[in-house]
Parts: sequence; structure tokens; C-alpha cells
Amino acid sequence: MNILPNYINGKWQNSTATEHLEVINPATAELLAKVPLSLASEVNQAAEVAAKAFISWRRTPATERVQYLFILKYLLEEYLEDIARTITLECGKTLTESRVEMRRAIENVEIACGIPMMMQGTNLEDIAGGIDEKMIRQPLGVCAAICPFSFPGMIAFWFLPYALACGNTYIIKPSEKVPLTMQKIFQLLQQTGLPKGVVNLVNGSKETVDAIVEHPQIQAISFVGSSPVAKYIYSWGAANGKRMQCQGGAKNPIVVLPDADMARTTRIAADSAFGLAGQSCLNASVAITVGKAKETFTQAIAEAANKRIVGNGLDDKVQTGAVIDAGSKTRIEGLIEKGVSSGAKLLVDGRNPLISGYEQGYFIRPTILQDVDPLSEIANTEILGPVLSLMHVNNIDEAISLVNNSQFGNMACLFTASGAAARKFRYEAETGNIGINIAASPIAFFPFSGCKKSFFGDLHGQGNQAVEFFTQTKVVVEQWTVSS
Ligand code: NAD
Repeated sequence: MNILPNYINGKWQNSTATEHLEVINPATAELLAKVPLSLASEVNQAAEVAAKAFISWRRTPATERVQYLFILKYLLEEYLEDIARTITLECGKTLTESRVEMRRAIENVEIACGIPMMMQGTNLEDIAGGIDEKMIRQPLGVCAAICPFSFPGMIAFWFLPYALACGNTYIIKPSEKVPLTMQKIFQLLQQTGLPKGVVNLVNGSKETVDAIVEHPQIQAISFVGSSPVAKYIYSWGAANGKRMQCQGGAKNPIVVLPDADMARTTRIAADSAFGLAGQSCLNASVAITVGKAKETFTQAIAEAANKRIVGNGLDDKVQTGAVIDAGSKTRIEGLIEKGVSSGAKLLVDGRNPLISGYEQGYFIRPTILQDVDPLSEIANTEILGPVLSLMHVNNIDEAISLVNNSQFGNMACLFTASGAAARKFRYEAETGNIGINIAASPIAFFPFSGCKKSFFGDLHGQGNQAVEFFTQTKVVVEQWTVSS
């Protein structure tokens, strides 16, 4: 079985690591590849070539830098189906979900192509007689992204296109669970003709990440993953003087008011809770019904959960694919059991389903726990599986209190026909992304927001905030006297 190579200084090269991990198709438990746990020396090599490449890349005009991104956009379009298939193979999500993921990746490339406008500074003449002042933006140097398993293609694109367009050079460390998609994407990056050293791929896990966070030549790090690791990397990177943006985990609530369009709400809630096998940071994980919404919503969501088609994501009919690995399946099933022992009622039990033809796969059918105690472990832990906890309150104020009691702040949704209730929720709910009658998923020219333990840092990925993150401002005050 091939061990996946790294891509450093414009060349594919085998890692010198002696330790490897297996990359497994979660739908079949089939071995797909082996990924090396690259050493600190390989991170060092990538950082050194990226620092060297930065010298001329930063001097390449922005209008020229974006030409590589235009080429990348067309290559990503051409190979979208192939990349989506790879995402499904290694991550387990459905093909439709993989295609949508790559569509969002491409959108970010498109937005970053506007860098000649987005990177402009400001200028004011005559701040005092004959004195001019301007603010310019300059790239930082070598930057790096550390990515999670849940979106093997998209997450790197919240950062990479902006970093390159702004004139930085880059290193990507994909999740060791899903490294195949980045192999395909780097083949396309290679085809764009980007100068050597501008983009680099280093596979690995903790030791590789630690080497990135410690490396003196790496100026800025974008991390996406679980909250404990996000916090640890944020603190350590910041202590090392780096600019940091670290997205963490989530526990997203949806609130259903009695006046909501129940059929539409149920369809969106089911997709949000059970799509992507519940493994996205934007999945709904808790549904809070208010007043009379309880009865209708509970019955409707249970029916939707029972009807959902679970199986291999490559099958077009499938709506919920496998969870990422055997350890994750065991962990999720353990949390469901804990929910039951803490007093919740198992309304729909999706544990250990038999998926014909895929008996070895890591599947969990949609699961619903009812009457979940807001103080219980299941109510406060990120489950990262197709499990929805139902809670009930008497009014919107109580619902907003439950939303705001969470340690996480990634996303919250409200379903209602009332504009006043919608405004109150948007105004008072303490999460970085809000959905009103829709599940929120910010497109590329808005920041991918998040707060509390869902985000450590100041500037988020995507759009203008990415441009701010990947540039250093410099203020220049000038006075020229005309010699007579
Ligand atoms: P993870 O934290 O286990 O791993 C993320 C990355 O960190 C990987 O590249 C991994 O190699 C590395 N890593 C893991 N443990 C480490 C350690 N101890 N020291 C140094 N590096 C380490 O996360 P995951 O399981 O791959 O991804 C799922 C998590 O990501 C969930 O919590 C999900 O909510 C979160 N996520 C958040 C967002 C967001 O925007 N907030 C988006 C996607 C995923």
C-alpha cells in the first residue's frame, strides 16, 4: 500500500517518517492508503522553502498573483466530480454533500481573485498642510493551515486563496484521517504553475502540528478542529508571537416557535441534524420547542428521522453517510447511552443499524433523545454524530437563555412566522452565525463566524476578515518639500 507523499518546494516527496496511519473508507472499512506522520524536520524544510519563495512572491503584482487563482478555479471546476468522489470515499459523506463542499471551496477562490480591490489601503492627503498619510497592507510571510476531518476539501479554502492572493506563502497540514483529497488538490495547484515553495503540503498529526506551532519562520496559523485543541494551539501559537485564528467545536441549537411552518422546519431540521452524519460544525444538535410546537415538531422530526436513508455516500439515494471511524461510532453510541442514563427518552434509536452490503461500515442511523436535561452531559458535549436532543420551554426568553447557556457559540437557528421574534433572537442569541427559518452557512464573502469556545482569535476565515488576517497594516506619513 502506497504511503502518501508530501508536496514541498514544487515537488512530491516521500516523508522520512517511520510512523504511518491507515486511511480507511468509513462506509466499507476498506484500507485506502497510508499517511506518514511527518517529522519536525519536514515542517522545517517546508517553512524554509516557503520563506525563500516569499521573497519574490510578495513582489509579484497582485494582478499577476490572482492569475494562478483563476487557473485554479477552472481546474477545480474541471475535477470537481473526481475530488467530490474522493471526499466521499475517505470521509463517508454523500456525494451531494461533497459536491456542495467543493462548490464553497471554489467560491472562496473566486472571491480571493478580487484581491487587487480587497487589499487596497486608505489614503488622506493634507492631514496637515503638505503632509499626506496612508495605510497600506503587506503580506505576513509564511502562513499555515491545520485542518479537521469533517471537510477534507473546503476548510483549507477559507484561508489558502486569500493568503496567496495577499502575497503570503503557505503550508497545509490536512487531517490525518482524510489526507487523500488534498493530494488531488495539490496536483491541481501544481498544474497552475505556481512558483515552487509558494504552496506546500505536509501530512501528519500531533507532532507535525506542534512543529508548525513552534516554527519561528511561520508567522500566522489558521486552525479548525475541536475546541480543546483549538484553545491549546491558539494559546501556544500566540505565546510564540504568531497571528492566530482557531475555530473550535460546536453544539448548535434550533428553536421552534408554535407559529413556524412545521413541514418546512422539519425538513430543514432533519437535514441540519442528520446530514453530513451530524459531523459538521454547523449541524443542529439540540432542538428547543416552545409551547405548542412540542407535539407537532416531535412527531414530525421522529418520522423524518425514521425515513432517512442511511448508507454508502456514493449511492445517490443515500441522505446520511457513515461517521468517520470506528472510534467515533463507539464514542457517539456511548454518549447516547449516557443520555438515556441521565433520564432522556430514546425517541428514535439509531445505534448499530444493519446496512445491507456495508456490514463493516461505521454507521449510525438518525437518533433522537427527548426531554433532555439541559444540565446533563449529553446536552453540553459536542456529539459529532447524527443525534438530536429535544428540549422544551414555555417562551422565547427561556429558549434564548438555553441557547446562551452553552459553552459554544457557532450557530443558532429560529423557526417562526414572527418578525418581532426573529429580531429578538438575532439580537440576543450569543452565537457567531444565526439562521432565521434556514440553517445558517455563510457564503464565501462573509466571515465564517463563531464565538465563545467555538472560536479563539479575532479575525475569522473567508472574505474581508481573511484579507485582514493575512496582511499587516503599515501607516506611512509623508511630507515632500519642493526645492526651489
Ligand atoms: P481535531 O481537533 O481532532 O483535529 C484537528 C486537527 O488538529 C487535525 O489536523 C489533527 O491532526 C490536529 N490535532 C489533533 N489533536 C491534536 C493535538 N493534541 N495537538 C496538536 N494537533 C492536534 O478535530 P477533528 O476531529 O479532525 O475535527 C472535528 C472538529 O472540528 C469538531 O469539533 C468540529 O466541530 C470542528 N470543526 C469546527 C469548524 C468551525 O468552523 N468551528 C469547522 C469544521 C470542524
